[in-house]
Amino acid sequence: MSLKVLSVASEAAPLVKTGGLADVAGALPAALAAQGVEVTTFLPGYPAVLAKLGKTRAVHKWDALLGTPARLLAGKLGEHPLLVLDAPALFAREGGPYADAAGRDWDDNWRRFAAFARAAADIGGGAVKGRSFDLVHAHDWQAGMVPAYLRLAPLAGGRGVPSIITIHNMAFQGYFPADIFPQLGLPASAWTVDGVESYGGVGFLKAGMQLADAITTVSPTYAGEIRSVEFGMGLEGLILARSNRVHGILNGIDTAEWSPATDPHLAARYTAGKLAARAKNKRALEQAFGLDRDDGPLFIVVSRLTWQKGMDVLAEVLDHLVGIGGRLALLGSGDGELEARFLAAAARHPGRVGVRIGYDEALSHRLQGGGDAILIPSRFEPCGLTQLYGLAYGCVPVVSRTGGLADTVIDANPAALAAGVATGLQINAVNPAALASGISRAVALYHQPGAWKRLQTNGMKADFSWGASGAAYAGLYRQLIGEQG
Ligand code: ADP
Repeated sequence: MSLKVLSVASEAAPLVKTGGLADVAGALPAALAAQGVEVTTFLPGYPAVLAKLGKTRAVHKWDALLGTPARLLAGKLGEHPLLVLDAPALFAREGGPYADAAGRDWDDNWRRFAAFARAAADIGGGAVKGRSFDLVHAHDWQAGMVPAYLRLAPLAGGRGVPSIITIHNMAFQGYFPADIFPQLGLPASAWTVDGVESYGGVGFLKAGMQLADAITTVSPTYAGEIRSVEFGMGLEGLILARSNRVHGILNGIDTAEWSPATDPHLAARYTAGKLAARAKNKRALEQAFGLDRDDGPLFIVVSRLTWQKGMDVLAEVLDHLVGIGGRLALLGSGDGELEARFLAAAARHPGRVGVRIGYDEALSHRLQGGGDAILIPSRFEPCGLTQLYGLAYGCVPVVSRTGGLADTVIDANPAALAAGVATGLQINAVNPAALASGISRAVALYHQPGAWKRLQTNGMKADFSWGASGAAYAGLYRQLIGEQG
């Protein structure tokens, strides 16, 4: 049976991306098509999305969607169906999806994403002629209210459909003051801890977790970790209470975008059997980042520069990295203080540390295609994609042992090396001593060319495409639809 699923996300590659959510939302339609599921993606109509849409047509309109006129446009995300919420009062503004150009969150984010969720619930309930859905799949807090509207304020006369919420990062919860509640268009009875109330305010992610038919998160290890106070960010009780509804499904990578054999961004394309061709990419990176040319390892970073990503810890160990013959090429943006620290490190270590502050998709591919090892010392990591890209590109991941990093990288301990199965290095804790020792281990292994090449080829041969994960989502969809009977 072919299923129709509405995937509700605030970003989807290649139309709009600030992080891994976009990669996943962008890849799901193809991953699920292979499983007999037709995914329609629903996105907010940011200017960047509308500009890239090309030919569209309006298929529905709201006179007052949480008080705002809005239209629904139909287009394509690659070959797959796309719906876009064109609500100029909410989305026609310069800046990012969630914040202005100076990085300040929009004051009305609650209204922007409640309206988006209200629209999604209407569409899921069958408001748009000729488009019916069997299930709604909501992603992160921006779509967290979708299960709440579906359950507590369904479209009048609409069809009841089950919903899933996927947590891509528990740290971002969409928590707003209680006084927005009367404006959400929910019945008064929704104001309870079994509804949308969370610690005295309205929790968008919490509402989704409370009211969806299933909760998924993006790796098995993270699904376990969020049961604890350390990782649950206040919602561990809810996860525990609904633990029979929680599933960990690892993200895959979109091999059409991320394959070193076909990647148009690379100076030289290569396969596991032709690793020597990577040298050209490494030379190009050295040039781009103003780094010395030598025989030592080139470490890379492609990351948000934040505490979560352990970037403060990395800043602490740069002198060590350089002292043992490493070089670093870093691409990232985020916390202003961290940006300044990395720029200062580049000035202190000319030729050894190169830093590019900003967001650059093409350069992120070139770094994976030319770097020797990617550093990912995250304090927590729901899944993580950059280690998967590193594995696919022969850029050996050096990661902390948490979340999806723990699930996808096999540490080069003596047993794994002897068995020939290692794919990277794990560090035990996120602190300067542990990271420095991980970097030292990487440098030592790099100087054993046979062992290093084995790490690279093992990673490149591992399968992190969407096959297994697409099947897991499809199985869950079918189970929930079956339950509704
Ligand atoms: P998160 O979503 O928490 O930021 P992930 O590892 O899941 O982390 O996904 C990050 C995605 O964003 C990857 O596709 C990565 O390549 C990309 N990315 C992060 N920072 C940058 C940057 N400065 N320039 C280009 N791409 C970046």
